Amino acid sequence: MAPKKACLITFGCQMNEYDSGRLADLLTAAGWTMTDSRDTADFIFFNTCSIREKAAQRLLNHVEQVRSLKKKKPGLIIGVGGCVAEQEGEKLLTDAPWLDLVVGPQHLPTIPDLLEKLTAKTETGRAATGSGRRPAWSRENLAELGRDDGSRTEAGGLIGFVTIMQGCNNYCTYCVVPYLRGPELSRGAGDIIDEVKRLIDNGVKDLTLLGQNVNSYGLGQSGEPTFPELLEKVAATGIERLRFTTSHPKDFPPELVRLFGSLGPLCEGLHLPVQSGSDKVLKDMRRVYTRDSYLRLVDDLRTQCPGLSLTTDIIVGFPGETEKDFEDTVSLLDTVGYDAMFSFKYSDRPQTRSAAFENKVPEEEKGRRLTYLQTRQKDITLAKNAAHVGQVLEVLVERESDRYENQLTGRARNFKLIHFDGSPELIGRTVPVRVEEAWGASLRGVRAEK
Ligand code: SF4
Repeated sequence: MAPKKACLITFGCQMNEYDSGRLADLLTAAGWTMTDSRDTADFIFFNTCSIREKAAQRLLNHVEQVRSLKKKKPGLIIGVGGCVAEQEGEKLLTDAPWLDLVVGPQHLPTIPDLLEKLTAKTETGRAATGSGRRPAWSRENLAELGRDDGSRTEAGGLIGFVTIMQGCNNYCTYCVVPYLRGPELSRGAGDIIDEVKRLIDNGVKDLTLLGQNVNSYGLGQSGEPTFPELLEKVAATGIERLRFTTSHPKDFPPELVRLFGSLGPLCEGLHLPVQSGSDKVLKDMRRVYTRDSYLRLVDDLRTQCPGLSLTTDIIVGFPGETEKDFEDTVSLLDTVGYDAMFSFKYSDRPQTRSAAFENKVPEEEKGRRLTYLQTRQKDITLAKNAAHVGQVLEVLVERESDRYENQLTGRARNFKLIHFDGSPELIGRTVPVRVEEAWGASLRGVRAEK
């Protein structure tokens, strides 16, 4: 019998991308193949994000679009996961009776089993987990996560991701994560190190430690190392490259700053979300740091590691954001000189405190500010990329280029994407490449001598 096909459709943040990748691995292990085609799929899964306004309604529109496929293929299973599934729970099954499966983020590992049950019709059609109330998240869950699905790989197994903690205690006023993913809970360092060693044995060279707020790893959990200590332990496994995301600027002690440029595998690239350049908006967002303390941290990092590449997240149009507040954000962008920025228009999300704030910025004005900011950042990114022309970067070769014949694509330690002429036997090796040209999203170079 031909293997069944699953089509995973992902909305939202990096955690969702990561979760979808994890699900793809689990399904592949259970004998499924992945497809991009909804028409030929036996299982269509929407991994949702509730960051946008009316996320549940948008989801139902998407689900409605695939409903007709059930007539052509009666065995088709349609499922919903992610934050909207967690928030809406069984209500989704009422609103969309043709849905088969609703699964909160923590229950992802149960999907292959649920599919087996649905396929074998041992249940009469429909299953719902994560029923709107977040299930208790226990240390045992994390141990389980560590053994079965706390890691995944990309780029033919060269790039690995390991979850080191879940949840968040920060309650930024615009964010639902603490409500959906629960309080911070760190995974045991022993489990993490075992997982990293296993990934290295399987060929992983570039490893990212993942969590909602990784640099508060271990805080409040006796017996676990601090995050800087954990980084040192992971570096000692022999991993070639080491990264982490996402970091909160308030949890960045000097011991962590000192590791950049001194801990060999720790790469010269850091995502440090600032969200706004205005002290008033930062206070309203409950970000706990100020513009000045953030800029001091950036200075310390660059003193310690001059070539550090920095990226950030910014929300424009937060309730009460004035033109002056927005200008403070623009000037912060100019001052820091980020290599890339991920920017969003503010939108209300259920359960968050900011949803009740007054002085909402009109949609049109939010759009204007976003366009202005993105245009400004485009120029900054191009200038940052152009500064690499003439430099030799160490490139981990990931694959043949999708766009250019006889070219390879890889990443430098600072995460810049780089294309250069070369033959496929270089894939998996780290080679020096001289940068000759800079574009907005990548670099082009030629192989250089050691
Ligand atoms: S730090 Fe703030 S924005 Fe990030 S996950 Fe926690 S509450 Fe959300």
